Amino acid sequence: MQQTSRYVWWNGELVAWQEAKVHLTILGWSTLGAVFEGIKAYWNEEHEELYGLQFAEHYRRFLYSMRFQRLEPRWSAEDLAAASAELLRANQVREDSYVRPMAYFGDTTWFSTGAESGTHCFIWTTPFRSVLGSGAAVRACVSTWTRLGDNMMSPRIKCVSNYQNSRMALIEALRHGYDFPILLNDRGKVAEGPASCLFIVRDGVAITPGITSGILESVTRRTILKMCREELAIPADERDVDRSELYVADEILFCGTGAEVQAVSEVDGYKVGTGAIGPVTARIERAFHDMVRGRSPHNHYRTAIYPKVHAAT
Ligand code: PMP
Repeated sequence: MQQTSRYVWWNGELVAWQEAKVHLTILGWSTLGAVFEGIKAYWNEEHEELYGLQFAEHYRRFLYSMRFQRLEPRWSAEDLAAASAELLRANQVREDSYVRPMAYFGDTTWFSTGAESGTHCFIWTTPFRSVLGSGAAVRACVSTWTRLGDNMMSPRIKCVSNYQNSRMALIEALRHGYDFPILLNDRGKVAEGPASCLFIVRDGVAITPGITSGILESVTRRTILKMCREELAIPADERDVDRSELYVADEILFCGTGAEVQAVSEVDGYKVGTGAIGPVTARIERAFHDMVRGRSPHNHYRTAIYPKVHAAT
């Protein structure tokens, strides 16, 4: 594995990248019930500050993902948020970065049914390139794969095994020349992308499938809903979305920690609006970008990683 940082945080300690090793025989089964988070930290050049994004929200979900998988929570959400900030500082991160916590059963060669399998946890950081402000739009298709149902393997949590479903859909979409798939749920309604939620815009209303539609309870989706309603005066609705609405929507956007806010230019060959980024998407994207980079007053969402440096500027 290519080294991306000096340290990882592993079971309560900072460990040098080269020392963070497990035995070959834990491959496979140990990750069957593993859960993870995707968190971002954005660098603001002007402030010389790195902003950790929504640590509290992500670690709250991390803990309920663990609970669902019967992984033993050995650290609180606050402990893990503090560990993430400490790790970013130890790695001297001064660029946009992912923070990737994972909890897994460490002492198993078979099904892991509970605490006897030993809960282990690590966090690592790795750089990423933001698409915010790039003006790029992506081409999507409706997948032939159905999104996991809540009575199969709940999509509500971030379990590694769930991503086999996303992976099949993504492989299919890429092979057919698209950038991303949109998955329908087991009721035939629109669910989400392979690692992102989505909004459609119809007649000025931003509409997103509800949290019982076979989606991950996305932090970004919730934040965008709140921004639309409380700051941007964009009417927002959570309801079932039909497949055919994808073909007649004025605008569509994917959203998520990894996806950020990404406009969709076409679905199954139907152009979305004019094919360029629409006005509602543009406003949401700008507000989201300002929030993550520390350019708007949303301090409750952000953790300043180098607060002394920031205070001095
Ligand atoms: N759905 C899935 C399946 C995902 O993996 C993600 C990325 N975490 C999302 C939605 C978006 O969630 P969030 O906004 O919390 O990153």
